[in-house]
This record gives sequence, C-alpha cells and structure tokens, in this order.
Amino acid sequence: MAAAYFSKFYKKSKQEKVQALLEAQILTSEDEQFLKETPLLSDGLANSMVENQLTQYALPLGVALNLIVDDKEYAVPMVTEEPSVVAAASSAAKLIAQAGGFETCITKRRMIGQVALKAVPDTTHAQKQLKLHKKDILNKANQAHPSIVKRGGGADDIAIRLIEATEESPEFLVVHVYIDVQEAMGANIVNTMMEAIAPYLELLTEGKVLMSILSNYATECLATATCRVPLNLLKRGDLSGEAVRDRLIEAAQFAYADPYRAVTHNKGIMNGIDAVVLASGNDWRAIEASAHAYAAKSGQYRALSTWKKADNGDLLGSLTLPMPIGFVGGSISIHPTAQFSQRLLGVKNAKELESVIVSIGLAQNFSALKALVTEGIQKGHMGLHAKSLAISAGATDHWIEAVADELKKAPHMNLETAKALLDKAKNNL
Ligand code: NDP
Repeated sequence: MAAAYFSKFYKKSKQEKVQALLEAQILTSEDEQFLKETPLLSDGLANSMVENQLTQYALPLGVALNLIVDDKEYAVPMVTEEPSVVAAASSAAKLIAQAGGFETCITKRRMIGQVALKAVPDTTHAQKQLKLHKKDILNKANQAHPSIVKRGGGADDIAIRLIEATEESPEFLVVHVYIDVQEAMGANIVNTMMEAIAPYLELLTEGKVLMSILSNYATECLATATCRVPLNLLKRGDLSGEAVRDRLIEAAQFAYADPYRAVTHNKGIMNGIDAVVLASGNDWRAIEASAHAYAAKSGQYRALSTWKKADNGDLLGSLTLPMPIGFVGGSISIHPTAQFSQRLLGVKNAKELESVIVSIGLAQNFSALKALVTEGIQKGHMGLHAKSLAISAGATDHWIEAVADELKKAPHMNLETAKALLDKAKNNL
C-alpha cells in the first residue's frame, strides 16, 4: 500500500503532494515536469478539437487516493468544479480499502449500432430477409472498418426490433448491430459501419433508411463494482455500526422507490464517475445519457446502486451501469492532460479503466449516503464550500484559509458573511 506516503495528504502543499506521489512511485520525474508546465492546450490543438475556438476553460484536476480495485491500488485523477467530490471519493476509498476494496466485473465491450427503416411494405417478410442475410450484413459492416476486425473485434451479431406505430409516430423497423469495439469508445467506428450497411438493408427490406447511428444506450458494455463493509468501519459518533448500516440500506431503498430521490442519488454517483471520465479524456455526455437510461430500464427511474445486509451482518454495496469509455481514440490520445491521467492511473486498457470508474461511482455513493444518514451532507460539504465562498469574496493566498475557517463558525455561511469576514480580517492587520 502507498498509504504510508499519503498521511494528511490534503494538508500538504502542492509541491509536497507531488513529492509524496513521486516517492510512492505513482508519478515519474517526467510527470513532475508536466505538472510544472502551463496545462493549456496548444492553440493549434484546441482549434482542431472544436470549431470557432476562442480560448480555453480551465477546471481543476484533483487526485483521489487509496482506491483498491481488484486488489490493485490506484491514485485517481478527477476533474470537477464541485468542492468535496475528490475528498468524499478519497475518504470512502480509504475506508473501503480497510475491508479489501472493490471488486469489479466488466462485460465484453460491445456497442450497438442502429439502422432505422421506415415505410417497410411487409415487415414480416423484411424480418425474414434480414435474418436470412445476417452473415452478409455482418460482413459488409466489418468490411467498412476492417482494422477493428484485425484487432480482434468487429460486428458479431444483429437483432431486429419492430417499433409499432402509435398516434405520435409511424412504424419503424430497426436493425441493431452488435460491435466489439476493443479499446475504443467506438462511436465513429460504429457510425461508419452503420452507414455502410444502410443501402443493403434498404434492398433487403424494401424500406427507406431514416438514419444510421450508434445507440448511446450501451446495454452490452456494462461495468459492476461491489464492496463489503464490516460493521466496525461504519460506527459513527453515537450511532452503532448496525444503525448506520440499516439507515444506509433504507436510504438506498428510498432511492429505489422514489424518482425524486433517485435522481439526486444518481447525481451523487455521477459526481465521481463524470470527474474520472472527464480526466481520462472521454465523452462524459455518452456516459451520462447511458447511465440515466439504464436507471429507468424497469420503466421507472430508480437508484443505480443497491445496498444490502450480508448474511454475517456486513453492508454490501453494488453498482452496475453502462460504461462506454475508450482507452484510445477521440481526443484521448491527443490531449496531454488525458495522457497524464492515464499515466497517473496506471491502467493498461479500457476494461481496467471501467473498473476504476465504476468503483469511484460506488465510493462516491457510499460517502454521500453515509453522510446523509449520520451527520448530514452539509457539514463536510460546506466546510469545503467555505473556501469557494472566501475566494468569491476576494480572498487570496493565506486569506482563503483564514476566511474559510471563520466562515465555518459563522451562523450564516454565505457570500455576504465571507466579504464581511475578509474586511474584518484585513482591518485587524
Ligand atoms: P475514433 O474515431 O478516434 O476511433 C478509434 C480509433 O482508435 C480507431 O479508428 C482505431 O484505429 C484506433 N485504435 C487503436 N488501437 C485500437 C484498439 N486496440 N482498439 C480499438 N481501436 C483502436 O474514436 P471512436 O470511434 O472510439 O469514437 C469516439 C469519439 O466519437 C468520441 O470523441 C466521441 O465524443 C465521438 N462521437 C460520439 C458520438 C456519440 O456518442 N453519439 C457520435 C459521434 C462522435 P484503426 O482504424 O487504425 O483501427
């Protein structure tokens, strides 16, 4: 464990933090140099990434420590504008590490491409034709992107879905193609394949293609993290381990039953997941869209995680969600900070990255639920929020900490109080 290097990590200066990570052999001297340089993209690169580029928008990258996933320890890069997210992930990871950490299970990385056909004259005949020519469809898809086949992936199956007509929409015959995208997220690979097979599907069905596109509902690319927390690690103040466990389980049940709570519960999970997805240079909108659709798979929007009592009384947590991230492709290989994130994490492939991300999601969820059912969420959150308020009030350097400390004791923690405290502190000089 690298934990020995990380005692009171959050209290260290930035240079001391880097030094601790160097000593723990998580960072190299090349990384140290990278961190000293301006973390901006070159203008040429920024220009090639988006259209009409004017400037760049900075967000902090923090590191969550002590995360054990499948017996390996990780230092996890997280990019977010929200205070307390990195701290909550770190503290949950540290607690769960004492119980052995997280275990994960990752499915095959298959994405789904859709070709939607309309005005098919005989859908029964069309479906027969599609089934009969499945091999040809898969061959044509694979011929459109042969390199993914050479890498061991490619299109390997189809499914046919008939979407019945309603008052609001006509009938659609939809062909799904399942594509193993290996180490890529696969959007461009899949879209290329779908556009390539579209004319052939028109021929087979005598229908008209409306669109050919990846589905972001990645139900064939799922990641699951589980953890087991013994009661001695759950005790909090006057509350026994049993009481915290039972309250946490009830909180999860509430989020299962009530969509109003489920959205907030899942937002907390996505606090962690988005931050790592963003740090790794991945498409966080794809992860968000897929996660929320998966949360509603039963027909009602529900909590993505479950918390239960084990036979021996331990608390058992589990989180499953689609995780269509890439380890290569998109802007991952061209964005220098995304490359730094990969080095910091030390992950070797997309599946390992999925394991870390889903575990951070469960850690984040544990932290939020534990706080909610014990001291409440505001104590920890507002402590960190105090710093943001101090900065908004105009505090710089050592004034930030000084104003934040006074703010935490104030009856009303808001911008007005922060400004007053800053004035008072400066006048007392
Ligand atoms: P790319 O278009 O960059 O394709 C990935 C490339 O990585 C492949 O073409 C492949 O090159 C190369 N590669 C190298 N090694 C491997 C490997 N081991 N396994 C797989 N590929 C490898 O990215 P994606 O197709 O992954 O698309 C992701 C991007 O698409 C993201 O930026 C996303 O934002 C964007 N996007 C998303 C959409 C959506 O979500 N709906 C829609 C459109 C775009 P080679 O050809 O040599 O095999």
